[in-house]
Amino acid sequence: MALKDMHEPCNQCGFEYARIDTEAWGASSARRLMCPVCGWTAYEELNWDETRPELVMRSEAKGYGAFRLIPPGGYCGYNAFHTPPSADVLYALKELLLNKGWKGYISLWDDTEGKAFLLLGSPLDKFDVIDKK
Ligand SMILES: [Zn+2]
Repeated sequence: MALKDMHEPCNQCGFEYARIDTEAWGASSARRLMCPVCGWTAYEELNWDETRPELVMRSEAKGYGAFRLIPPGGYCGYNAFHTPPSADVLYALKELLLNKGWKGYISLWDDTEGKAFLLLGSPLDKFDVIDKK
């Protein structure tokens, strides 16, 4: 599958590579989009009963940041902050990165600036283009 088919531009921060997860059941399919930079998410459901796929529903949610935290020897995907994270939550996440040997990053959405910034850690692989604008 081509890289361009697996990603879509983010509607919130404009990052080119929002992640896409797809699933299908019966004559329906759904896509979940999530931006690893600002935490924007979208969900859309399609029905394929007719000759053309019909968009049954679509919803979008603003992101308040995103994170990916990988335990030593383990694996974890990307997560979005759907509300501004509390100081306690941020403290707990930072603790994992700084003192427990976890890898990953935490980014937060800045409403005033209208862009995401990297709070801590480093994005992995190609997502290191974070916040270069
Ligand atoms: Zn984004």
